Amino acid sequence: MKSNFEYNLCNWCLKRQYIKNYRLKKIVEDCEICHGIENQIYKISYKIIQATKDYQYDTFLIGLTLDHSFYDNEDKFRSRFKIRGKENIKASLLREIRKNFGKISNKKIDLNSPDITVNLQIGKKFETTVSVNSSTVILSGRYRKRKRFRSISNNSDNVDCLEINQRHIENLLKKKLMTLFHSKSIIFWPLGKEEPQSLVVGNGRPFYVTIKNSKLISFKHEFSIQSKGLIFNIKEKLPILPKATPFYIKKVRTLVTCEDNLKSSDLKLINDLGIRIIESYSRGYKSWNFIYQMQSELKTQKKFELLIVCDNRFPIRRFINGDENVSPNLYQILDKRCMCEFFDILDIASEDD
Ligand SMILES: [Zn+2]
Repeated sequence: MKSNFEYNLCNWCLKRQYIKNYRLKKIVEDCEICHGIENQIYKISYKIIQATKDYQYDTFLIGLTLDHSFYDNEDKFRSRFKIRGKENIKASLLREIRKNFGKISNKKIDLNSPDITVNLQIGKKFETTVSVNSSTVILSGRYRKRKRFRSISNNSDNVDCLEINQRHIENLLKKKLMTLFHSKSIIFWPLGKEEPQSLVVGNGRPFYVTIKNSKLISFKHEFSIQSKGLIFNIKEKLPILPKATPFYIKKVRTLVTCEDNLKSSDLKLINDLGIRIIESYSRGYKSWNFIYQMQSELKTQKKFELLIVCDNRFPIRRFINGDENVSPNLYQILDKRCMCEFFDILDIASEDD
């Protein structure tokens, strides 16, 4: 049986075994555990530098998959000398690579939420592959729409209209973010919808955006993007998407045309309505929204401007047009057929604003 001194171990591996009175040997490549992997640490770190050079980040984490032969070598040695509970070759190597890479790159290790995660695979002959993943960037902001989009299709129904508008805004934002973040997987989550011809003023409509595989992870969190009459104000970077979206109330201005001539008693009916709960049914789902206040002002005999303060999800056009799946709707309240010409979002506010 070999004694520990008969084993050829490099100093790096020997230190890890905590054997007292060992004699240092000048062994590197002949090490029976690591075959001189310690000498590869700088080379590996440099490979990571190369793989991460396009990323703008502050913190990192490195994971390692090491060829099993290295563990086998160490296990054999340790079982021979009954060495237990000491750090193994992988943990030791990983610690050194992290330390070395941190020093070269001047970035910090973050075990919980690193900007980038580097995965290393080291084979039997030190063949190394490096893959890099960045953490998903989650931004929250608001957009304002200062120009009306031309209605894209006259045939589309209201739901399509809202979708078309949202997709159009999404495309404009994505195009800008793709260039900024060098990412193709961007998801836009607006809180509520408006029509292509609606303006969105005031604070703007809140939205979230998630950006996967971004090259830009560390940046100034407040910035704004302008595109074709839209202003996107990014307010902050979030650690996760909120589980429940905050509660918002919107203030909307609409122009309504009535089939009959309007009387002052009609407008009084609207203005005195007070707080009402409105039930609506859409795509198999029932929902309830509050109207908090309505204020109408006659513009011509058949037209009036209507200001509505209501929950953010309240279906404005369907309410005004007397959609039978919205109850009570304006037709039921006035007993007159009305039509929404357009609506603008004047403000969207939450309790925190
Ligand atoms: Zn060694």
